[in-house]
Amino acid sequence: MNHFVQFLKSLFLIELLKGMSLTGRYLFAKKFTLQYPEEKAPISPRFRGLHALRRYPNGEERCIACKLCEAVCPALAITIESDQRDDGTRRTTRYDIDLSKCIFCGYCEESCPVDSIVETHIYEYHGEVRDDLIMTKEKLLAVGDKYEAEIANARAQDAPYR
Ligand code: SF4
Ligand code: SF4
Repeated sequence: MNHFVQFLKSLFLIELLKGMSLTGRYLFAKKFTLQYPEEKAPISPRFRGLHALRRYPNGEERCIACKLCEAVCPALAITIESDQRDDGTRRTTRYDIDLSKCIFCGYCEESCPVDSIVETHIYEYHGEVRDDLIMTKEKLLAVGDKYEAEIANARAQDAPYR
């Protein structure tokens, strides 16, 4: 009996028709595919992307080389070296974040006492060799300089940076 039913199903292409009806239903259904990069998916307010180092409005870098972010980083992705300047203040001479190690947990941002290291909404970056994914101090400051207005605005509203 079972074989006979299978034979009839094969004869009348039942499985094929079922598959085509499913395809037909989705042909006219609402589309979920986004035409990236022209169209972009919404980002969660809690999204944590590429890091940035911020400056004060007078151009002075905020980071005081306390190394709290380096100590708290669970992935050991941050490397800091520091020195004392002529005016007696301490600043980093090296601040690297290895993005191939970073898990984007946000601990560095939360630990920073001067709101220097932040994570932005940027997710469109890539590296062709491993060194491309090491964000040096210069690169981090450049990201901070570029997006400072948005970062400061979000922080003034006590809203997550988007
Ligand atoms: S986001 Fe987390 S893992 Fe990445 S550098 Fe900051 S503390 Fe380390
Ligand atoms: S970024 Fe913030 S937490 Fe990290 S060393 Fe600089 S001041 Fe300290």
